[in-house]
Amino acid sequence: MSFVRTMTGDIAPEEMGFTYSHEHIVCCPGHWLERGEDDLLLDDPVKSENEVRLAKEAGVKTIVDATAIDYGREPQAVYDIAVHTGMQIIGTAGFNKGFLWDAKMPGETRTYNEWIGQASIEELTQFVINEVEVGMQGTGVKGGQVKFGTGYNSMSELEIKTIRAVSRAHLATGAPMHAHTEAGTMALQQIQILKEEGVDLHNISFGHMDRNPDTYYHCKIADTGAFLCFDGIAKVKYNPESVRIKCILELVKRGYQKQILVSGDTARKSYYYSYGYALGLPYIKQEWTKRLIEEAEEAGINGTQLVEDIFVNNPRECFTFKK
Ligand SMILES: [Zn+2]
Repeated sequence: MSFVRTMTGDIAPEEMGFTYSHEHIVCCPGHWLERGEDDLLLDDPVKSENEVRLAKEAGVKTIVDATAIDYGREPQAVYDIAVHTGMQIIGTAGFNKGFLWDAKMPGETRTYNEWIGQASIEELTQFVINEVEVGMQGTGVKGGQVKFGTGYNSMSELEIKTIRAVSRAHLATGAPMHAHTEAGTMALQQIQILKEEGVDLHNISFGHMDRNPDTYYHCKIADTGAFLCFDGIAKVKYNPESVRIKCILELVKRGYQKQILVSGDTARKSYYYSYGYALGLPYIKQEWTKRLIEEAEEAGINGTQLVEDIFVNNPRECFTFKK
């Protein structure tokens, strides 16, 4: 039977409802903690819970928390928020990117670099499988997707090792895959490794695609059957909203409407209403979708159907376990 794995249990895919596909709720990345980068620490579970409640009240039913262990994942704290608010939250097994691995692992003297460098691919694979099937960081809270990532226009030996381990954990568990791409780069190189590992690319979503607003590149990725996650909504410092919407509509015009996901990647206090009075988690559902509908309709596209696909139908397909 097909299912989606949330932190509070497996659900039928039809129960997902309106879904944000890449967010962060509570996280304290060691790399940023050691550098005193306070804005990058979502370290107040009460404020985070308040924000999730605002999203719930706005009609968001499911949030994918894309925080892997090396980004300071706090599975118990996020699980508690899911229980308190009733939000369905999907947790993330696996890894983020090598840039973060100079930090000490929680409760250990070794760094992520030392761990990943010393472990075999088989050991890393088993680690990720356990996060999906047993629980994350000693809790019983299971991951509902498996993640890997690479750097800006670069892919290190250790990152390739994690791509292979995460691919194998995906093949063993059926868990959906998610890729971190730094500023939207290297997805095509990641795809080469995934193909070597025998991954069906319809089982993966590539994050941060709007950081690289290049329709030719997006189409090359979409041609593989993969999902493209436009998760920088409201980050006008990177691109105006018009750029993101144009990229999305270009994909729609070319027949890729069923492969688009949208989210806000709220990994800073200054993105949260409850920490910094920013637009916050409700914004995409309450405001941004209206603009998308308006611009889609101007382009002769059914905007209401597009929103239904991006936030309901596509996440349901993307985040269902497949074996
Ligand atoms: Zn993220």
